[in-house]
Amino acid sequence: MGIIVQKFGGSSVADAAGVKRVAQRIVNTKKQGHNVVVVVSAMGDTTDELIDLANEVSPLPPARELDMLLTAGERISMAVLSMAINDLGHDARSFTGSQAGVITDAEHGRAKIIDVSPGRIEAAISEGAIAIVAGFQGVSQTTKDITTLGRGGSDTTAVALAVALKADVCEIYSDVDGIFTADPRIEPRARKIPRISYEETLEMAAQGAKILHLRCVEYARRYNMPIHVRSSFSEKEGTWVVNAEDVAQESTDKENTVEEAIITGVAHDRSQAKITVVGVPDKVGEAAAIFRALADAAINLDMIVQNVSAATTGLTDISFTLPRTQGQVAMGALAKLQGEVGYDKVLYDDGVGKVSIVGAGMSSAPGISARFFESLSAAGVNIEMISTSEIRVSVVVAEPQVEAAVNAAHAAFGLGSDEVEAVVYGGTGR
Ligand code: ASP
Ligand code: MG
Repeated sequence: MGIIVQKFGGSSVADAAGVKRVAQRIVNTKKQGHNVVVVVSAMGDTTDELIDLANEVSPLPPARELDMLLTAGERISMAVLSMAINDLGHDARSFTGSQAGVITDAEHGRAKIIDVSPGRIEAAISEGAIAIVAGFQGVSQTTKDITTLGRGGSDTTAVALAVALKADVCEIYSDVDGIFTADPRIEPRARKIPRISYEETLEMAAQGAKILHLRCVEYARRYNMPIHVRSSFSEKEGTWVVNAEDVAQESTDKENTVEEAIITGVAHDRSQAKITVVGVPDKVGEAAAIFRALADAAINLDMIVQNVSAATTGLTDISFTLPRTQGQVAMGALAKLQGEVGYDKVLYDDGVGKVSIVGAGMSSAPGISARFFESLSAAGVNIEMISTSEIRVSVVVAEPQVEAAVNAAHAAFGLGSDEVEAVVYGGTGR
């Protein structure tokens, strides 16, 4: 009998009614003759509420204690979900990440899974039980302390367990019917993507599309574990995340395939800020000094642009983007550098957003950037920064123009459907 891992996100188990609905769904899968292992996130906005609570108690909670607190969210949902399944007459047993054998490194708040030894899960399913595992958490191999995997980490727990258990598929349930060509919350004509490669999914997720935890996709790609992203609120087939050959295979299978889509989707990100270092002397070692200071402050950089220096002044500007949450720290690190580098000033702008088009087809198609930029221009959107990869073009724009930019790009690449397909069933978007 095959194993299916099913992961349910916070919005699917937001309240008692949701928990019961999900319990029924799990039991239905079990009745179809599968072994079922479930990974569950904290109910609704519990994790955010726990973080708020910690911040009320302490301005800087110790990372170890914060992790201990946050893992409580998933313990609540795993226990109540197990109760609901038992009520339906099926044996279900809940396990913390540590009991499920999720072993991580010791990096609190963003621990990496280094091994999964799911002995207790295997024992439970061999006795015919449904195993419920708390997502987003593990235990450090070295310190034996409880760790968390970073926000949204339950997806990664699910894929890691699926790999360790040699499951047939990892199903990720959320409040939308799959992965869409753009966020249905701002693009009403977004279409569901039936199949998408790991690589494109990684780019979409890295560019802010709130579809899957980045690490979960990396993990799935490494072990070639198919992910089926779907809604717990409907029975519809969702999106399959598989390797690129399988995506290509499907399009050759389709007779008279319509011209293959060059762009797979449009992603946007409102979590970034832009810093510009103005008047940097154009000489050897200046950029190195700036980015060394930022690296030492553990700043996660994204786009970097350095202008050609003005011939008259010999000075140049360097701009980069980073997560807004790191803005303060980065500004502090740069301030200490002013004497050494001798720049003019540093500008901070958190009123920016990033819009990206992603598609494996673009590597062999000319004119993609032109079409993208023309659509932005027609929509009156000004581009502040540009960056590209082999399968992506990203722009930074003013935050209030993000929505218009997404809509323009989506239409320019013919991604829109004629009917409204996307339903957002739940979630507060927090
Ligand atoms: N509950 C955690 C969070 O909200 C983990 C997850 O949802 O995957 O980030
Ligand atoms: Mg959550």
